[in-house]
Amino acid sequence: MSLSRPDRDRDSHSILELPADKYTVGWIYAIPVELRTARCFFDVEHSQLRSRPKHDENSYNLGGICGHNVVMICLPELGGVKAAVAAKSLQATFPNVRFWLMVGIGGGIPNPPEVDIRLGDIVVSIPTDVGSGVIQYDLGRMEAEEFCRKGALSKPPSLLLAAVRNLQSRSGVGNDISKILSEVDSVEDSDGDMQAQTYPPYLVDDLFRANYTHVKTDPACDCENGTNKANTIARRKRNHQNPRIHYGNIASGNTVVKNAAERDRLAKRDNVICFEMEAFGLMDDFPCLVIRGISDYSDSHKNYAWQSYASSVAAAYAKKLLNIIPPEEVAKLKPVRSE
Ligand SMILES: [Zn+2]
Repeated sequence: MSLSRPDRDRDSHSILELPADKYTVGWIYAIPVELRTARCFFDVEHSQLRSRPKHDENSYNLGGICGHNVVMICLPELGGVKAAVAAKSLQATFPNVRFWLMVGIGGGIPNPPEVDIRLGDIVVSIPTDVGSGVIQYDLGRMEAEEFCRKGALSKPPSLLLAAVRNLQSRSGVGNDISKILSEVDSVEDSDGDMQAQTYPPYLVDDLFRANYTHVKTDPACDCENGTNKANTIARRKRNHQNPRIHYGNIASGNTVVKNAAERDRLAKRDNVICFEMEAFGLMDDFPCLVIRGISDYSDSHKNYAWQSYASSVAAAYAKKLLNIIPPEEVAKLKPVRSE
């Protein structure tokens, strides 16, 4: 029996056990659905550390991906502050982790046809003229006239950015990601059913007009079943089911955004293409790249249907990225200091 997947005969077979200082890549996710999918992307799973510092209460999954020794961690709660605390503990236990991948789901900010983000697409944080890749959109001062955002977070490390640019210049990356997804095991969903991690054509992907608000008690909306198209925005049909990868600034903050008008206002103000809630806690202290699979449009119709697939595409992109980064180049980077 192959030992290349998590959960198989964990106790009855000995699996590779490495000392903590052999791990060089940190992989962080925030919700259980991301954990279920992320673990499938290990090429080989390692056993847990025999001992670790007393104060470290994180739960880890260890393994190898494309020649890198990777430590995965699931946050106990959502949010940037929790992410920073967990990352600090991890960095103390795994002193040679050189960079972090923040991998999971995010809320897309579509603006078709220019920014044609669909559910199941991928957003990667890279610097632009107006931001460093991640923008903490809710940090600033309320002045007499308007809110003034302040501060800028650190950029992703140059080794990661160079790898991202490399993928950006290639064609067929979306197809490669679909291929990676077709090769990983199915995962169990919250109802206990097994779900393939490939594109779910049975799910609805409707983008509603910003001024059309979801009303729970109004059966006319029926956004999960997609029966009412009267208030949707028409978009060109794609002739493939591969995820498209969008590069730019990700908005990170303490609030779950479920409001299309607010979404569009912030997108215009900060030139962002995705919302998430953890990266702002990491960027300044840990060299980090953010990879988000789009599971909703940050509007009132937001639901959970696309979360599993969206977290899978983000993990598959992370694996594709690790595949083109030589482990010996990672070893040359300076270790991250933790106090
Ligand atoms: Zn709705």
